[in-house]
Amino acid sequence: MTVHFPFQNSYSALPDSFFARVAPTPVAAPRLIKLNRLLAVQLGLDPDLLETPEGAEILAGKTVPAGADPIAMAYAGHQFGQFVPQLGDGRAILLGEVIDRDGIRRDIQLKGSGPTPFSRRGDGRAALGPVLREYIVSEAMYALGIATTRSLAAVVTGEHVIRETALPGAVLTRIASSHIRVGTFQFFAVRRDTEAIRRLADHVIVRHYPDLLHAERPYHALLAAVVARQADLVARWLLVGFIHGVMNTDNTSISGETIDYGPCAFMDSYNPAQVFSSIDEMGRYAYANQPRIGLWNLTRLAECLLPLFSDDQEKAIAEAQDILGAFSETFSNAYQAGLRKKVGLFTERDGDEALIQDLLDAMAKNQADFTLTFRKLGDAAGDPAAGDARAQFMDPATFDEWAGRWRERIALEPQSAAERQAAMHAVNPMFIPRNHRVEAVIQAAVNDDDYAPFEELVKVLAKPFEDQPDHVAYADPPLPDQRVLQTFCGT
Ligand code: AMP
Ligand code: MG
Repeated sequence: MTVHFPFQNSYSALPDSFFARVAPTPVAAPRLIKLNRLLAVQLGLDPDLLETPEGAEILAGKTVPAGADPIAMAYAGHQFGQFVPQLGDGRAILLGEVIDRDGIRRDIQLKGSGPTPFSRRGDGRAALGPVLREYIVSEAMYALGIATTRSLAAVVTGEHVIRETALPGAVLTRIASSHIRVGTFQFFAVRRDTEAIRRLADHVIVRHYPDLLHAERPYHALLAAVVARQADLVARWLLVGFIHGVMNTDNTSISGETIDYGPCAFMDSYNPAQVFSSIDEMGRYAYANQPRIGLWNLTRLAECLLPLFSDDQEKAIAEAQDILGAFSETFSNAYQAGLRKKVGLFTERDGDEALIQDLLDAMAKNQADFTLTFRKLGDAAGDPAAGDARAQFMDPATFDEWAGRWRERIALEPQSAAERQAAMHAVNPMFIPRNHRVEAVIQAAVNDDDYAPFEELVKVLAKPFEDQPDHVAYADPPLPDQRVLQTFCGT
C-alpha cells in the first residue's frame, strides 16, 4: 500500500509570479517522531500508512507523494516595522491542498524541507527544538479553541543543522486553511501588480470568505472581514496570556489563524509589558501591544487593496480608514466579553469593566499567575472557602478586597455557584504550554533522544479545560530557577 494524499491544488494554478516550483531536498535518514493521528483522519489521510517508513519519507520531504505540486510561496513583509520586498517560503514547501472532512480546504506544508529560491542566506532547514515547540504550542492553541495552523507530524531528518552549534534537523508538517499572509498582498503591491492583487483577493474570497462573493463591494467587504477576524484573534490571544512574539506582516494570516510559532510564549505572572523574544529589544510585540500591532498590520493590508477600491486614491483611502476604524471596537467587544466570562459574569452592567480592570491591576502588582488566578477564581465561585486564587497574590489582602466587590456583583445574577464554576472552567484553562515545560521537553528530546516528556505534555495540553488530577504539576508556574526569561526565533 502506498500513502494516498487526495490533493486538489488551487494555489499552484495561480500565475507563475505567485510562487516558485521547487521540490523538497531529500534527507539522510528520516524518522517519524510524532504523527497527529486524529488530524490525519480529519484530512482524509491514513494514519497507519503515514506511520510506515514510506510515510516518514514523505513527511521528511524525501519522497514527493503522487498528486503533489510542490511550491514555495512568494511574499514580502514588514519585519519589526522594516519593509522587505521579498521574503517568501525560504524553508517551507507547500505540497498541496486537500479538502478535509468538514469540506474545508487545507494546505499541507513541509517546514524545514530544504532550500528554495527564497532562502536568501538561510539553509532551508529547521532544528528539532523549534519544530517541537511549534508542534506543542500550535496544538495547545487548537485545544484552547483559538484559530491556528496545526501540526500533522514531526520527523527528524538524520542530519544536523548548523546554528550556534550543530543541532538535530527536523521537519514539521504544518496544516493551514491557507498560508496567504498580509505579506503576500504586499509582494504584489510593491511591484504595482494590481492584476495580481485582484487575482489574489478573488482567490482569498472564494477560499476564506465565500459569503462575500456576492457582496456589493467584495474587496471592501474582504478588508472588513479580515479586520474582524484579526481583531477577534488578538482578543483571544490576550484572554489566554499568549504573546506571539513576531507579529510581522508576513506572519499575519489572511484567514485569521495564528501562524508562525517562533519565539511565542504564554506568560506566567501577569505583566502587560511582558516580552520574551530575544530579538524584540524595543518591546514592539509585547503582550499588551498586540492589538495596536494587529491594526498596524491590517493598515498595511488596506494599503495593498486601495487600487481595488477606487481609481480615486483619496476616496479609496477614506474608505479604507473607515473599515480599519472598526478594529478597535471589534477587538474591545471581544476582549471585554471574554473577560466578563473569565470572571464568571453572565450579564453586563455598569462598572463591570472597572471591576475587571481592578483585578488585572492587582494581578500585575502582585505578580499573580495569569492562568491560575482565573482558573482558581472559578473554584472560588463554586466554593467561597477555596483559597487558591488569593494564594496567587503576593499580598492576599488585595485579592480579598477585590473578591468582596466581585461577590456582591455575582450575587446580582441568578446562576448557582456550581453553574458559575462550570462556566468559568470552560473558558479558563488549567493547562497552558508553560515555557519551562516546553524547554524541558525540548532538552530531553534534543539531548537524550527521549520523547516521553514531549508525548506527555502534548497529551495534557489536548484537554486544557479538564482538571486532570494526575497531571496537576503541569499547571504549576515555574519555580524561580525554572523561569524562562527569553525565547528565540526558530531559524
Ligand atoms: P520567520 O522569522 O520564520 O517568519 O521567517 C522570516 C523569513 O525568513 C521567511 O521568509 C522565512 O522563509 C525565512 N527563513 C527563516 N529561516 C530560514 C532558514 N533556515 N532558511 C531559509 N530561510 C529562512
Ligand atoms: Mg514567517
